[in-house]
Amino acid sequence: MVVATGKSILNGIAIGKIKIYKAPVYDIYEGIVEDIEREVERFNEAIEKAIADQSVLYEKALKDAGEESAAIFEAHQMMLEDEDLQDSTREIITEQKRGAEYATKTAFDNYAQMFAEMDDPYMQARSADLIDIEATVLDFLLGNDTSSMQGTEPSILVAEDLAPSETVKLDKSLLLGMITREGSANSHTAILARSMNLPSLIQCKEIDDSWDGKLAIIDGYNSCVYIEPTKELLKTLTAKHDEDVRKLALLEELKGKPSTTLDGTSVHIYANIGGPSDLGFVNENDAEGVGLFRSEFVYLNSKEEPTEEQQFAAYKRVVETLAPKQVIIRTCDIGADKTIDYMNLDKEENPALGFRAIRICLTRKDFFKKQLRALLRASAYGNMGIMFPMIISKWELMEAKALLKECEDELKAEGHKIGKYELGIMIETPAAVLCADDLAEECDFFSLGTNDLTQYTCAIDRQNAKLERFSDTHHPAVLKSIQMTIDAGHRHGTWVGICGELGADPTLTETFLRMGVDELSVNPKSVLPLRKIVRSVDLSKPEA
Ligand code: PEP
Ligand code: MG
Repeated sequence: MVVATGKSILNGIAIGKIKIYKAPVYDIYEGIVEDIEREVERFNEAIEKAIADQSVLYEKALKDAGEESAAIFEAHQMMLEDEDLQDSTREIITEQKRGAEYATKTAFDNYAQMFAEMDDPYMQARSADLIDIEATVLDFLLGNDTSSMQGTEPSILVAEDLAPSETVKLDKSLLLGMITREGSANSHTAILARSMNLPSLIQCKEIDDSWDGKLAIIDGYNSCVYIEPTKELLKTLTAKHDEDVRKLALLEELKGKPSTTLDGTSVHIYANIGGPSDLGFVNENDAEGVGLFRSEFVYLNSKEEPTEEQQFAAYKRVVETLAPKQVIIRTCDIGADKTIDYMNLDKEENPALGFRAIRICLTRKDFFKKQLRALLRASAYGNMGIMFPMIISKWELMEAKALLKECEDELKAEGHKIGKYELGIMIETPAAVLCADDLAEECDFFSLGTNDLTQYTCAIDRQNAKLERFSDTHHPAVLKSIQMTIDAGHRHGTWVGICGELGADPTLTETFLRMGVDELSVNPKSVLPLRKIVRSVDLSKPEA
């Protein structure tokens, strides 16, 4: 048995024979050509066919992987229609007297290189899209047929890399999983694999041609693949696979159904995300919105402080993609366990009680205003909520709101459009719980951050594994604080959600519903299991 590791893009098990896929090799004539007009004509025909092909791929992706994945091919179509890109290609034909294939390769490669050099990881990943559409145009120019790459039996496809158009052309009924040597978690191929529910590994450097035809198991939970697994392993992982299939079928039935109890009480089940790369998980798990977008990941994923434009691009992408669903973006919550070199934060004796979150933002106002401006600009593209973390006093909320207003006035004067948005705060300290009535007067919603609320209520460092014996996530003081917050919010018409880990605890779902919680925002994988519980609860009967 051989074990190779990679980066898993979907938790799951795939079992089957390996099929090695070899991408077509393009033999391109690089010399001078005589009939320039004919070459321009050939390019025009190929680009037209490639544009039309994107609509076919769009329809196929829509059927196999859903709307968000299909949108990739709309984007490809727009890239192919780009006049600058087309003109650059034609110019190479006419000015350098080269063939359509050479011109396509040169112009598209240049554009791909440009994207690869951009700072934003999302834009960098678009470089792969350009290479993909380049291959489509070349296939039309050279008359290549790429339809037979899968063989005839269901298999795990192994390739150096797979372009989105290659992935979507695959016959899903013959595809058990995918393994690639290259690829990024942000790439559209990864997004497609996730939405097609295919256990897949990327960045598997040990791929080998000798695997072809051999039995293999992708273990997405442990980010590895077993080639020619032992009998015992095959038995264990087959059982795990069958259990996954059973669970998935049960949960699939809940997609599109309301999160409503037997007696008719509805609760919103939202998802927690860290950035645009988690978008697929939101739709895949049928979350009704995003209750916590931890915006600090936008900062943590960057080597230097992200600019207003970079932040705007990230927020807009999430808000626009999910509209009309609500997306609540929490302003930067760094400090404590989340440190960033470029912020030059001092070392502290008690970082969890120190300079963090809103305390940093209200001190470094220019830093904060950059984020507020990006958020306000993104609000024009969907249904947004802005949420401040670690608020303990009303004056902090008022100061943050004043800065938001200042940014709003500036942006309006600059001619920017600003959408409607809700404003809320995290309730994650005993101080906020005890002052919840006062705070509720100034916001549309509260979101209970039970991770920190538990830490600060019980004086238990959430980072310290030694304290596990003393830590009780169901501590009566925490549950009482949740009830107090919900009651205070409701007294002032402020809705109340829970976005800490406790919100996904299935043993507390009924308790939270009885407390009157309006929203639960949980990791995307917990959305459907929670919906299942909500739909089985009857609040008109006494608690079991
Ligand atoms: C919380 O404290 O419960 C919370 C959701 O925020 P974080 O875990 O990011 O501190
Ligand atoms: Mg917190």
